[in-house]
Amino acid sequence: MNKESNNVLVVGAGISGIASALELANSGINVYLLEKEAVIGGHSASFCCKATDVCSQCSACVVPDKIKETVSHPQIRLLTNSTIRRLSGELGNFRVTITQKLQYIDQERCIACGLCTEVCPTDPKAIHPSFAEATPFSYVLDEELCLRFKGEKCDLCRKGCPTKAIKFKGESKEQELSVGALIVATGFDVFDARKKGSLGYGRYPNVLTGLDLEQIFTREGCLKLPASGVEPRNIAFIQCVGSRDEDHDYCSHVCCKYAMKLSGLIKYHNPDARVTIFYIDLQTAGKGFAQFYEEYKENIRFVRGVPVEILQTASGELEVRFEDISQGKVCRDTFELVVLSVGISPSKESWDLARTLGINLSDNGFFAERDSMNTNETNIDGIFIAGTCQGPKDIPDSIAHGIAAASKARQVLTESASQRQGNQGRH
Ligand SMILES: Cc1cc2nc3c(=O)[nH]c(=O)nc-3n(C[C@H](O)[C@H](O)[C@H](O)COP(=O)(O)OP(=O)(O)OC[C@H]3O[C@@H](n4cnc5c(N)ncnc54)[C@H](O)[C@@H]3O)c2cc1C
Repeated sequence: MNKESNNVLVVGAGISGIASALELANSGINVYLLEKEAVIGGHSASFCCKATDVCSQCSACVVPDKIKETVSHPQIRLLTNSTIRRLSGELGNFRVTITQKLQYIDQERCIACGLCTEVCPTDPKAIHPSFAEATPFSYVLDEELCLRFKGEKCDLCRKGCPTKAIKFKGESKEQELSVGALIVATGFDVFDARKKGSLGYGRYPNVLTGLDLEQIFTREGCLKLPASGVEPRNIAFIQCVGSRDEDHDYCSHVCCKYAMKLSGLIKYHNPDARVTIFYIDLQTAGKGFAQFYEEYKENIRFVRGVPVEILQTASGELEVRFEDISQGKVCRDTFELVVLSVGISPSKESWDLARTLGINLSDNGFFAERDSMNTNETNIDGIFIAGTCQGPKDIPDSIAHGIAAASKARQVLTESASQRQGNQGRH
């Protein structure tokens, strides 16, 4: 087998892509791990640990160790800020053109002194550390916030940088890779809660999403209202926001678990807090989760019913109007904070990637497997899928799916190499 036909390109460095890359690299295969962002780890890299006195088995702690192992693995070449532009060839002999976008911040020069953030005049800041645990640690520039990208001549961060690590001009770079197989692990988009206009996300400061809450706990170590910094005592979670409705006929699998575990964490920090969970039905599948539910059901108020509207009162409280199915009537209640348990949606970029690679999407917009046997295989020989780009999964299931994709890729590469050797022997 020639060396390049044994290489594998993993597209997307979330936990499922990382699991695939480590599985392959640990068996001696060279891996290119492609990530469109400056840092790796995907969504789960910014999740909080939800342990109280006991571990809640949320799996957030698994992620940092796997990231560290990936970054230092000699068989893994990390290509950040990069996406696929073109693909040609076939199993055992793919040629992939990669585009690496212009790097505004030279990571080799950046000493993370924070001066750029200090002088940036926008609120929120357009240039900032990606997040505390980001690996590789890096500052990022948000084109949507930066005044320069709005036609203004602001140059404060570039001038203030002591190591001249910031530049606004330059070009993206292209390179070509030869690989035997590809694993697509491009993950999901968090459902955009603004689409449910009546729930007030983006309009009322104390309506947040589950992802916002994860990040507040990671950053602050406890729950504080973003605007006032006050610890809320009366909190509601609304389940199935962006799942199991007319546009999304599937369950996101993770929302009941993270909502209940975050509720447990809130009660642990503040036993007097009143937590209500509005749900359609609770998905309690998963290791230890039914037991977790039994423990918390006495302390958390569960209301079977879907809120239809949230309004902000004159005092800033949030009035939730909901149908209580068990009582068969429409009710109202007020809360200091409402958390929308947003689900897992297919990535908006999946269409483009599917076209570039020639792979199929399923009806709900996730990448389709070739058959229903859960084989990780796509309609193209040598291209596999891993993790939530195939459908909703939690961290352990994403890791398992990533490892399965890697095993499948290794197997077909071995088979195609021995077939080629057999053909050569006959000529
Ligand atoms: C609010 C919320 C809370 C959750 N909490 C928990 C929890 O407590 N425990 C748990 O087990 N699970 C939880 N989950 C589920 C968890 O987020 C997923 O299981 C996990 O993130 C899936 O990893 P992934 O690698 O498949 O996808 P992602 O995390 O989405 O990673 C995909 C990666 O691919 C990159 N990428 C995308 N497109 C491209 C491209 N074209 N080229 C290159 N790179 C690309 C992305 O930038 C990203 O780094 C939660 C989910 C949500 C929404």
